[in-house]
Amino acid sequence: MTSALTSAQLRIDLSAVAHNVTVLRQRSGADGLYAVVKADGFGHGAQALARTAVAHGATGLGVTSLYEAAPLLDAGVPVLSWLNPVGAAFDDPATARVQVAVPSIEHLDAVAAGAVRTGVRRTVHLFLDTGMSRDGCPIEEWAALCLRARRAERAGQVRVAGVMGHLGCAGDAHDPHHWRAVRRFDRAVGTARTAYLTPTVRHLSSTAAALHAPATSMDAVRVGAGLVGIDPSGRGGGLRQAATLTAPVIQVRRVRAGQAVGYGHDHVAARAGWLGLLPVGYADGVPRAATGRASVLVRGVRRPLVGWVSMDQVVVDLGDAPVTVGETAVVFGPGTYGEPTLADWAGWSGTIEHEVVTRVSARVPRRYVDEPRTVLSGAAA
Ligand SMILES: *Cc1c(COP(=O)(O)O)cnc(C)c1O
Repeated sequence: MTSALTSAQLRIDLSAVAHNVTVLRQRSGADGLYAVVKADGFGHGAQALARTAVAHGATGLGVTSLYEAAPLLDAGVPVLSWLNPVGAAFDDPATARVQVAVPSIEHLDAVAAGAVRTGVRRTVHLFLDTGMSRDGCPIEEWAALCLRARRAERAGQVRVAGVMGHLGCAGDAHDPHHWRAVRRFDRAVGTARTAYLTPTVRHLSSTAAALHAPATSMDAVRVGAGLVGIDPSGRGGGLRQAATLTAPVIQVRRVRAGQAVGYGHDHVAARAGWLGLLPVGYADGVPRAATGRASVLVRGVRRPLVGWVSMDQVVVDLGDAPVTVGETAVVFGPGTYGEPTLADWAGWSGTIEHEVVTRVSARVPRRYVDEPRTVLSGAAA
């Protein structure tokens, strides 16, 4: 380290992302892999994640809207977008190359009309609801959607390149909901073929299924959480967490036993000792709900946060440790040095890792590192 940190910082280890892409490709066994970089790459930065994933074999990128897709169009692989309203700008020439998932006849008609306006045939993926009742086409409307899609294809307005679904119970290959969804998907692909569609990319699996139910991988998987080291099934999956949130100790103070700390005076020091102040709070993504349970790593030792998590700051109980201003506290990281992980924070705040990491706000600067694994683990190169 050359200069001391002056603010909180989210460090993104791109070698972990590269490792995760490789693991996901191997474990899934699929030829194709869409790197899902929605929500600014789960808070890690969509561009950096996309570049790293493509360099390590991702064959496409996945996002929600045309708006998220636009900055990724020069990544060198197809960009698929699956959550657009019927009124989205399908007639905008700037995003005419974005592949679009189509969940209804209304969407199909809007996409086809847009293609007529731009003069560019749109590549689409028909999107089936396999049982989540969330996004995708209800099974009852599927056959009609396929027929309409075939008509638009013959008119040169769209090309149906894929059929996609999404799994609600993907972490357990033996879950009956999982197999019911897979069977429904297979039948829907058959219906599409009966309508003379020729989709070449069938994709159903996200991270959990790619890791733990590879029989479902088909032609491609769509993985987001796994890229950044989250296995939604909680089984680890051989992935490495990419993000580390640190903050400098910007002030230390001595308190007496019985002295109150933070809003509401809800915490009272049990004994005399040192407190450290970190300039990171819930506006930066530290969950306030973790108050009373959370700890951070300072000088290699876990130290509890005391008092409520504030908007911009938290207080660490340093005990009698001789910590000085300018030292770095690790709020979360991969756990290599004993620091809390995203999973710890999720447990402390009653949520999932995805929510903790996507909430690290834009106020926190991102720093990208791409160190080879040998250096990171301290082994000789
Ligand atoms: C977010 C999302 C994914 C990625 O899921 P992960 O569990 O993060 O891998 C895949 N497909 C769809 C439709 C999604 O919304």
